[in-house]
Amino acid sequence: MTPLPTMSYLTDIYLERGAVQYVAGLLSDWGCQRPLVVTDRGLVKLGGVDRLGIEAVVYDGVETNPTEDQARSCLEVFRRDDCDALVALGGGSSIDLAKCVGILVGHEGPLERYAILHGGMPKIQNPLPPLLAVPTTAGSGSEVGRAALLTLTSGDKMGFLSPLLIPKAAVCDPELTVSLPPGLTAGTGMDAISHCVEAFCSTRFNPVADAIALDGLVRGCNHILSVTENGGDLEGRSEMVLCSLEGGLAFQKGLGAVHSLSHPLGAFTERGLHHGTLNALFLPAVLRFNFDACPEKMKAMAGRLGFCGNELPEYFERLNERLGLPKTLAEMGLTAEVVEPLAEKAAGDHCSPTNPRALDGAACLALYREVL
Ligand SMILES: [Zn+2]
Repeated sequence: MTPLPTMSYLTDIYLERGAVQYVAGLLSDWGCQRPLVVTDRGLVKLGGVDRLGIEAVVYDGVETNPTEDQARSCLEVFRRDDCDALVALGGGSSIDLAKCVGILVGHEGPLERYAILHGGMPKIQNPLPPLLAVPTTAGSGSEVGRAALLTLTSGDKMGFLSPLLIPKAAVCDPELTVSLPPGLTAGTGMDAISHCVEAFCSTRFNPVADAIALDGLVRGCNHILSVTENGGDLEGRSEMVLCSLEGGLAFQKGLGAVHSLSHPLGAFTERGLHHGTLNALFLPAVLRFNFDACPEKMKAMAGRLGFCGNELPEYFERLNERLGLPKTLAEMGLTAEVVEPLAEKAAGDHCSPTNPRALDGAACLALYREVL
């Protein structure tokens, strides 16, 4: 029998070592008989799908920064095999793709109609197939979040938002994250940490989310180095899983400039730029940019980490360095010609309105130039 969830907060969360054993029972409790596992080839090879312990149809075409094309081919498999549930196994890319497939199962296309920036939130209103999220990274928070990001055929990386996109349950098993290599552990971990920072600094009023964000921030900052250096540190892995969950619970109140700057770069699907690694790179510059707009919040974050507010940007600079993450966009193969024209897109991103300091094209351009 499936036990009671560890927590029920926005959705049912199963968080413990070996929690993956509950996947089969949950699907059967929901009356689902033909789940579609949405994942990537690497995880299939590593035996990830076998660990779910279920009979399932598998779509393994997820790539980093998923696209509308992938959503359509995944939808075809869902319909062809008459599936009745989605099991997203992987990082944020797999979970977000499964959410978008869910939208397409319940609604007429094209996906663009449902994007936040096209006023699509209220149009996501029909029932979606039940989604079970089984994250294998600790970063995106998508396992408990109501958002999904996808690069559309137009080339724009768009956000989709609806309470209906929150997975019906999240099975968070720290053991599934131990095989994540150091670079991805650091990059995904910094994504989770940046969610906590940006949600906390968001201009929307939500002190409940603020408390969650601060807790996630401390857990993440205290453990990201140890899990990057020693992937088998299961206690640290559990703390990072919590940081990811808490970041996802907190970003209900919106994100900010770090994500605004990173989204247009993530839309270059052929470059495969890692979302969390980009966020880590932008975080110190954005903290400096935002500093005077919310000095009390900077002080509160630094205080929880044990130092003074004005040391916060340098703290993250040093952390990135120790994690072996890039310091400049050039190190990720990007040039001014590629990056600078994206400044207006960044300013218009759905995360910009909740940044504590107004973000226009000129501000985004200056921020891009600072880290080129
Ligand atoms: Zn993120």
